[in-house]
Amino acid sequence: MTEVRTEIPFEIDLEALSRSLHIKPESDHVKELAALVDKVREVGRPKAVYKESFIDDKGVETVSIDGVTFTSRVLRRNLDGVERVFPYIATCGNEVDRIDIPKDDFLQEFWLDAIKAQLLRSSISHVTGLFETKHKLGKTALMSPGSGDLEVWPIEQQREFFSLFGDVEGMIGVRLTDSFLMIPNKTVSGIRFQTEVDFQSCELCHREKCPSRRAPFNKELWESLQHE
Ligand code: SF4
Repeated sequence: MTEVRTEIPFEIDLEALSRSLHIKPESDHVKELAALVDKVREVGRPKAVYKESFIDDKGVETVSIDGVTFTSRVLRRNLDGVERVFPYIATCGNEVDRIDIPKDDFLQEFWLDAIKAQLLRSSISHVTGLFETKHKLGKTALMSPGSGDLEVWPIEQQREFFSLFGDVEGMIGVRLTDSFLMIPNKTVSGIRFQTEVDFQSCELCHREKCPSRRAPFNKELWESLQHE
């Protein structure tokens, strides 16, 4: 069953935000940032959709979930022995994109992006909290279309991923562009599943100097997949 969450609570710590944006307490920027945060508090609506799904078929390189087939050797391998999965999409919500920022005010745009990231974090922790408390998932791993090296789980499969839910835009205001990017930009999608094995897509990603890297590249794992 699809669960839609549109009233996810969030908090913005102005002092911590100022520090992370390197704004000095005596700077005039503090007031401007506070005004922007007030607007976000007024209109911000982080949201999420997820479902408890079951795998109905597995091929050599394919996995079928709720009748939708995905092709990824890594996904297939990670879901060996797994029957129940939790696809989800979490977003900062598109309301904040409607906040009026003066044209060419790149600083405010940059700040808004940082605030949106905070809203997205609230949305992700709301959903992962539900996985732990409501669905008793325990130790899990996550795979997302498009993360890791290109061939790990090709981003083009976002189309199939979105089809698991139906009208995602109607449910949580997230749309997929023709190049498979999600709008609003602070949105994540993925499948969380129970596992005893530690896995992060970053282990299969050659991208250097990624500020979001969560695990070092795992040459051994990468090579083992090339020889399967
Ligand atoms: S290293 Fe960066 S780009 Fe690569 S999978 Fe991890 S977060 Fe994504």
